[in-house]
Amino acid sequence: LLEARQHETVLEINLDAVVDNFNAFRSRIRPTTGIACMIKASGYGAGSHELARTLQAQGATYLAVAVHDEGAELRRAGITMPILVLNPTVENFHAIFTDRLEPEIYSFDFLEALIREAGHYGVKNFPIHIKIDSGMHRLGFLKEDLPRLIDMLKSTDCVTPRSIFSHLCAADDPMEDDYTKSQFEYFDECCRIVLSAFPGQKILRHILNSTGITRFPDHQLDMVRLGIGLYGIKTLHDGSQDDLRPVSSLHTVILSIKHWPAGTTIGYNRRGVLKRDSVIATVPVGYADGINRHLGYGNACMVVRGVKCPTVGTICMDACMIDVTDVEHVSVGDRVEVFGESIPVDTLAETLGTIPYEVLTSVSSRVKRVYY
Ligand code: PLP
Repeated sequence: LLEARQHETVLEINLDAVVDNFNAFRSRIRPTTGIACMIKASGYGAGSHELARTLQAQGATYLAVAVHDEGAELRRAGITMPILVLNPTVENFHAIFTDRLEPEIYSFDFLEALIREAGHYGVKNFPIHIKIDSGMHRLGFLKEDLPRLIDMLKSTDCVTPRSIFSHLCAADDPMEDDYTKSQFEYFDECCRIVLSAFPGQKILRHILNSTGITRFPDHQLDMVRLGIGLYGIKTLHDGSQDDLRPVSSLHTVILSIKHWPAGTTIGYNRRGVLKRDSVIATVPVGYADGINRHLGYGNACMVVRGVKCPTVGTICMDACMIDVTDVEHVSVGDRVEVFGESIPVDTLAETLGTIPYEVLTSVSSRVKRVYY
């Protein structure tokens, strides 16, 4: 770890913090409620294998990925626990069956294709997860679709419902609580219809995401789906998530330091104009690493020896420049924090007019992930 820390741009991932965050959410729900951990988009950028191993050891009920490739990679890495695939396509049935990746069922077209292919491969009782569209209006079945859905499921022994679920679209917005309540009611009604059609069969019901777990624990049902909270990002700022610990921090090093007189221009299109005699450091992190160009021009700071150093000029593909004039004893090789302890991910997200999810998942694959 030290070696990597000293010479490269690395995303450091604190697996103890992941465990603490998992347990923080565990303590918010009943011991009998399962937890599906969302490790799609390569664990929200933190790397899915290591997280999966950690969460498997912690007793998570499910892992959830977006596409079958992500699930297949986890199987190759030796992950044996149940994996839910949220956005499966009709292309990948063979892999879905052989790797036992349990698909979300979101449309009749998809279900028909799945049943046909399951028949073709001789698959029996393959677990599926019924997605209800309770108000997000992205994917899923409506209440009026359920009679046909139930008929289809009862007339095949190739697949079997393992869970029924839905997704809240505004769990973090108190102004939309009436809408969220209507989502809960709609989903409950759909659950009643489906569960009564399969008496005696254990079908898990789940609707809450991280914010939902904190705000609406009464709706935890049989399982919750924990995403951003696992990574220590607070979606609420009322103190209710203060027990979460940040998981990822992005660090780099100073490659070169130069002294320039006031008036010198720095970088592409001469966009960084020095207002004073300055000491400028070049660091090997750029937009190809996931540092959005809007973070240039002094819109963001990086931290060197405890001092916040603004970016200067444009962010380049593989590097950017920062003003280290105020850093005492600054030297080549100094460690630079891009985000982490001193620069929260939220701050960068706010500057970019986006959400922390996007900042985390933007750290590109060439940035080495280091676990501790
Ligand atoms: N469930 C579904 C279907 C999702 O798409 C997501 C995230 O995008 C989650 C759960 C987890 O949400 P969060 O990261 O806000 O906890």
